[in-house]
Amino acid sequence: MIVSCRDVTVAYDSKTAVDHVSFDIDQGQYVCIVGENGSGKSTLLKSILGLVPLKCGSVSFGPQVHRKRLGYLPQQTTIRKDFPASVFEVVLSGCLNRCGARPFYSKADKTLAAQHMERLGISDFKKRSFIALSGGQQQRVLLARALCATDRLLLLDEPVTGLDPLVTEELYRLIEQLNRELGVTVIMVSHDISQAVRYADKILHINQSLLFWGDTAEYVNTEIGKRFLKCS
Ligand code: ADP
Ligand code: MG
Repeated sequence: MIVSCRDVTVAYDSKTAVDHVSFDIDQGQYVCIVGENGSGKSTLLKSILGLVPLKCGSVSFGPQVHRKRLGYLPQQTTIRKDFPASVFEVVLSGCLNRCGARPFYSKADKTLAAQHMERLGISDFKKRSFIALSGGQQQRVLLARALCATDRLLLLDEPVTGLDPLVTEELYRLIEQLNRELGVTVIMVSHDISQAVRYADKILHINQSLLFWGDTAEYVNTEIGKRFLKCS
């Protein structure tokens, strides 16, 4: 087990966004969280990240991950608009939680950032301004940044939104490679159910409460899976 959610419940004011959700994710799995708009997908991801307070329930991690070292790619990042930094600086900022009390990046941090940029094919524009890049390039940079925070568990919230089909396909392949080759556990929120069932081992379908949690092969044969696949 790498992440375990027990009875996770989150409410904004009095409105419940995630309702008594429980599941365990094993190391190396590729999980897609699917559901309608407003069904609580992003909130569930944030509850794993500790970014929203739980009304009840708990989230725990296996010994292989540190709560402060999770790789996160937020939905429609505001980082994009107000990040006057170079590509290298953005990637390197993923190492922040490794620094601890150190007020600077170490040589090892920089080497790690360089390795992840190489892996994601963005080394050539390391000195360029992040905001000047295309949407697909920016997502690669943010993925490299997330990898600097962890090589164990990536949490991605709709990472392909707004990208054209070719770039979307490339990004999906990269994420699949990270999962298959590096063994990174992937938890991805996706509105694209047809892609989700192509890549993910497991599907988590929510509408506040959990509607389905299990193998993708099983999901596509359930009523809810069939209905959701048909209408999207
Ligand atoms: P999804 O990602 O599936 O579209 P969200 O988790 O973003 O859904 O939102 C679930 C519900 O919680 C929605 O009704 C949304 O309006 C509400 N919500 C999300 N974030 C906040 C917030 N910060 N404050 C108040 N309500 C929120
Ligand atoms: Mg969302």
